[in-house]
Amino acid sequence: MKAIESYIRDINDFPKPGIVFKDLTPLLNSPEATKLCLQELLAQVDGQHVDKVVGMEARGFFFGTLMAQALNAGFIPVRKSGKLPYETISETYALEYGSDVLEIHVDAIKPGDRVLIHDDVLATGGTAAAVCKLVERLGGVIVQCNFIMELSFLNGKDRLRAHAVRSVLTY
Ligand code: 5GP
Repeated sequence: MKAIESYIRDINDFPKPGIVFKDLTPLLNSPEATKLCLQELLAQVDGQHVDKVVGMEARGFFFGTLMAQALNAGFIPVRKSGKLPYETISETYALEYGSDVLEIHVDAIKPGDRVLIHDDVLATGGTAAAVCKLVERLGGVIVQCNFIMELSFLNGKDRLRAHAVRSVLTY
């Protein structure tokens, strides 16, 4: 079977001119590659106990739920403003131009819960840093920030310095 990397394709000028977007839909379209990627993501957790997996909208949902099942943990979605139906807390984070808001349900995490944070890509780290703040405000203990891909030239790790950060692929 081909390496995971071969199922990730570069899309030039998406979503804006000058950006090379890492597209993981070919990986999701292959059951073998999806299984292999899940194995690699779980290996990064290295047997640590996890109560909850938090996945970011929207591409963090795919492997976040698969990992939660495999770890016998609950899955918690973090979503953009106004999408979650119950009471939420929110964090505003900076984008290249402007800002965005992420939300989590107030009852999603209990104080002391051991939380794995997952997303497909670590770029500048703004999204993951905002999610870490949400989890910690609810009393969660962050076990690891776990990604499929890290775009290391954007230095996202610097914003997650307080936490363990692991990625299957580094560009
Ligand atoms: P950051 O906040 O670290 O700058 O950006 C990470 C977020 O943007 C993640 O939620 C991720 O899904 C998305 N993202 C940024 N660049 C890419 C990319 O090249 N490919 C994919 N699939 N997602 C990206």
